[in-house]
Amino acid sequence: MHELSVTQNILSIALEHGERAGARRITVLYLVIGQLSTIVDDSVQFYWEIIAEGTLAAGSKLHFRRIPAELECRECGTRFGLGRDSFDCPTCGSERVQVIAGEEFYVEAIEVEGDIDDTNNTPAAEQENQENENE
Ligand SMILES: [Zn+2]
Repeated sequence: MHELSVTQNILSIALEHGERAGARRITVLYLVIGQLSTIVDDSVQFYWEIIAEGTLAAGSKLHFRRIPAELECRECGTRFGLGRDSFDCPTCGSERVQVIAGEEFYVEAIEVEGDIDDTNNTPAAEQENQENENE
């Protein structure tokens, strides 16, 4: 169920950016997931199709990029990746290691369809103002 709230977060970020860009439709989201992240991309995909329905992001694709884990030994400074069952330092055997990469989860980029990059583009906020003036 963790993924549901995560997916809702992604959607609100996507919609915020999409609306700000004056997008008609959000087409692709690029997400970054660290190797150590507990996020399951299949679950995110599953929830995404449900909660994005009826929004700017309906039908959009999720693209996941995995970042490998990197750990650093606090005793000898060795940096190493995972690939073994153990988190111990491969150089000195210390268990005092810290994760320096691999726990990420964020939205890296969003592709939209609409009038972005168009200098004549009217931001959503301005459109609202114009409507008010017409009243
Ligand atoms: Zn070490």
